[in-house]
Amino acid sequence: MSHVDERTARKVAEEARETEWRLPSFGKQLFLGDFRLDLIHPHPRPTDEARRRGEEFLAELTEFCATKVDPALIERDARIPDDVIGGLREMGALGMKIPERYGGLGLSQLYYGRALMVVGSVSPALGALLSAHQSIGVPQPVKLFGTQEQKDVWLPRCARQISAFLLTEPDVGSDPARLRATAVPDGDSYVLDGVKLWTTNGVVADLVVVMARVPKSDGHRGGISAFIVDMDTPGITVENRNAFMGLRGIENGVTRFHGVRVPAANLIGREGAGLKIALTTLNTGRLSLPAMCAASGKWAAKIAREWSRERVQWGRPVGEHEAVSKKVAFITATAYALEAMLDLSGQLADDERGDIRIEAALAKLWSSEMACRVADELVQLRGGRGYETAASLAARGERGVPVEQMLRDLRINRIFEGSTEIMHLLIAREAVDAHLSVAGDIIDPDASAGRKARAAARAGGFYARWLPTLVTGAGQRPNAYAEFGPLARHLRYVERASRKLARSTFYAAGRWQGGLERRQGFLGRMVDIGAELYAMSAVCVRARSDGGASRILLADAFCRQARVRVEELFDGLWRNTDAMDARLARAALAGDFAWVEEGVLDPSIPGPWIGPSEPGPSDREDVHRTIG
Ligand SMILES: Cc1cc2nc3c(=O)[nH]c(=O)nc-3n(C[C@H](O)[C@H](O)[C@H](O)COP(=O)(O)OP(=O)(O)OC[C@H]3O[C@@H](n4cnc5c(N)ncnc54)[C@H](O)[C@@H]3O)c2cc1C
Repeated sequence: MSHVDERTARKVAEEARETEWRLPSFGKQLFLGDFRLDLIHPHPRPTDEARRRGEEFLAELTEFCATKVDPALIERDARIPDDVIGGLREMGALGMKIPERYGGLGLSQLYYGRALMVVGSVSPALGALLSAHQSIGVPQPVKLFGTQEQKDVWLPRCARQISAFLLTEPDVGSDPARLRATAVPDGDSYVLDGVKLWTTNGVVADLVVVMARVPKSDGHRGGISAFIVDMDTPGITVENRNAFMGLRGIENGVTRFHGVRVPAANLIGREGAGLKIALTTLNTGRLSLPAMCAASGKWAAKIAREWSRERVQWGRPVGEHEAVSKKVAFITATAYALEAMLDLSGQLADDERGDIRIEAALAKLWSSEMACRVADELVQLRGGRGYETAASLAARGERGVPVEQMLRDLRINRIFEGSTEIMHLLIAREAVDAHLSVAGDIIDPDASAGRKARAAARAGGFYARWLPTLVTGAGQRPNAYAEFGPLARHLRYVERASRKLARSTFYAAGRWQGGLERRQGFLGRMVDIGAELYAMSAVCVRARSDGGASRILLADAFCRQARVRVEELFDGLWRNTDAMDARLARAALAGDFAWVEEGVLDPSIPGPWIGPSEPGPSDREDVHRTIG
């Protein structure tokens, strides 16, 4: 499997998709021009019991984090102290989402998110430890796909032990079709071989979920499969503890499996279902990162407010200079939206009345992007102090405000659990699913002429019914959504924009047909518009539910800011440099512009100060050529 072509990669991704939509989806309908406000309004609420349990735990957790966790120490030592993990274990924080009958706390998704927000606000590394274990590690797939016996065996352990999720390999990132790790059946076991990279918690984990390929053979359907592996099993070595730009405290490693014997009873689901299990786990698992982002947003709002008032330059607090006040407005409004999106998505997940896979994916995508913008603006607002480390600030007698750390810690959210680029494709795939399901064969290069003709007839009927629904809607009625008061106009805008988005997708499908899936610039903007519309909807519904003039005002401000972004995105759908950029990139990759790189050194190539060494990359002719 060293070489996998694009078609195979897509096929593997497609097979891992959940294709059915059994429950209504606000997100999916939004992309189809059908603004189903009724699916999110009135704002869903937790049951009294879920609230009581959640609030009790939050109080205990907040007290613990405020008194027992020293964020500066974690940052300085790049380690989470044992007593912190011990304390969290004692209060049940390793089993927040595990049902009580298996020794967990049985918290709802809403309160799990709020708990991560509290932990993430003191230490994102600690938040990453908890979420890698509970959102993607062993407990969630076992809860969702395990047999009763597996639940009885593993869930009580997961409530007290740390686990990790091992999919990525040196050659396998966004594209799992290249997966190399193997699990070869041998009697009543499988024998695991392979190397897993960037295993969050992998260095300290007691249990891991490993994705490995089972070869097809007699009695074995084979395919990428998910295994629970006890880290005590002989043959496992952790070869490196990786260090990163941020999240310095995470225990992330390279884990090698060499002839590791795993009982067949540890297979989750069936052979070949591994990727589907991973993706389904991520449906709600993806809501952890928005929790981290919401935590950052809230803290950024506090620091922005405090510093903009305190710091006086040019005769006024910096917050009174318009350029800075705009940042305060952006940070504050976005903080409210980040929380609104997190809570709404979490509560929708708890209610189980709708399918939230698009909402959770939009929340991951939007939150990780917006939180980075917030952090960047906060650095700017703090000036030189934004760039200075908290330790250095404290060493010279100032308050140690870790703003640069926030920027570094947040950056990974745009890369892991589905990079922004992959989230764009994944959401676009779901969003245009209605088109593909009726018109799929028309644009499928492998379909026969007969299949194409039948698909064309089917598509004609579908579009004849669907297109008229995109022409008019509630958004054009001046009194629509009146119960939202000053926010009604924003919901009318969302309704109109949702139809415009669907019309744009329809035009694009007609224009590019099968080529649409390659128009990543177009698809990315389309998804970003959907994400902004979801954020606007979440904020309006939240503000209406919270009540109070201050919340309505902030929601109004957020929606106005979001509308400016949406308009730019709509504009960019048809006016952009995508085609030229693609040509330019092809030429750049071919080396046509290598002259741009002249006149500087490449620090990644060892210089003579490293001393005599093995022939390294610097000895290669092509490397010399690229630096001129
Ligand atoms: C700190 C950290 C923690 C991690 N924790 C875990 C973990 O616990 N478990 C685990 O299994 N993995 C983990 N990962 C791996 C992480 O999920 C991957 O880094 C991520 O999936 C991206 O893969 P990649 O880095 O190989 O990038 P690549 O897949 O090589 O992508 C490189 C770039 O190309 C883009 N790209 C790739 N394919 C396409 C496409 N078809 N269209 C458009 N753009 C594309 C990507 O978005 C990216 O910008 C972690 C990584 C880090 C850094």
